[in-house]
Amino acid sequence: MDYANTLLDLIGDTPLVRLHQTLDLPDEDGPLVLAKVEYLNPGGSVKDRIASRMIDAAEASGALQPGGTIVEPTSGNTGVGLAMVAQQRGYHCVFVCPDKVSVDKRNVLKAYGAEVVVCPTAVAPEHPDSYYNVSDRLSKQPGAWKPDQYSNPNNPRSHYETTGPEIWKQTEGRITHFVTGMGTGGTISGVGRYLKEQNPQIQVVGADPAGSVYSGGTGRPYLVEGVGEDFWPETYDRSVADRVIEVSDADSFAFTRRLAREEAMLVGGSSGMAAYAARQLAQELRAAGQTDAIIVVLLPDSGRGYLTKIFNDDWLAQYGFPTGSETDTAQTIGE
Ligand code: PMP
Repeated sequence: MDYANTLLDLIGDTPLVRLHQTLDLPDEDGPLVLAKVEYLNPGGSVKDRIASRMIDAAEASGALQPGGTIVEPTSGNTGVGLAMVAQQRGYHCVFVCPDKVSVDKRNVLKAYGAEVVVCPTAVAPEHPDSYYNVSDRLSKQPGAWKPDQYSNPNNPRSHYETTGPEIWKQTEGRITHFVTGMGTGGTISGVGRYLKEQNPQIQVVGADPAGSVYSGGTGRPYLVEGVGEDFWPETYDRSVADRVIEVSDADSFAFTRRLAREEAMLVGGSSGMAAYAARQLAQELRAAGQTDAIIVVLLPDSGRGYLTKIFNDDWLAQYGFPTGSETDTAQTIGE
């Protein structure tokens, strides 16, 4: 019989799927753009990988004791991964989220049995109510352990040990460019280091919301969730990215919607942002005659958590973003 012993055995080994229409390039010609579809992980995001690796290490070191409590500031996906592993291994979870995180995402955490504490986004990291400080206080309670995805070396290590080797194997070592968004920087640092060790010619490209520190900003608020920072996390290896492409919220959201309508990929805003950057890169490479380039872009999570935001015309209109509906109607009438 073919079955997994527990859901945790299904983390990783996600597929690569080629992008077509959204690239606005002739389909019969390169560059080839392959999406690493991380929402097919059992918890629905790339963060399942770091959650299991961080918990394994904490158990091994004794930092997490039987029946202990996991306390973490998270925008949702790391929480789901941690809650899933915790449920299987008998730990409690308390998650601290900024208020910009969608209600849908918070409810998912609660569904796994976790507790959620919501903190204001509009305060500095050093403010006592900031989600970093609230989680610090909670993690000092007896029996508590804070994975701290922003400084835990097992975050980038999980990508060095799983995501990177998977991409190398799946592309038979032919990958030329890797594109990903950056939050903690764990993905780009771990995957980037692994790939460059295999072939130093591989270009590692970060995609970043306009305003974030990674693309030279100061942390000015942007709406895309899970990526961009207002500080430099320890998990980010500054030497790994060859280039950072800045993407506006408007372009990230419009492209997220295109991925659902044109590629049938229902993904989140950080996926739209990364795929937009990959498309820009593909167009540049094609213009330079590099049609044999093979670009892998990592799509971190599913669009299900953003149905009331990115996929809601009223929400987009409220921020002055185009919804695309007018164009769709015009095209339908014209056809
Ligand atoms: N997209 C989403 C939706 C995320 O939750 C995260 C993690 N914060 C990322 C992208 C970025 O990944 P990393 O933390 O590995 O840089």
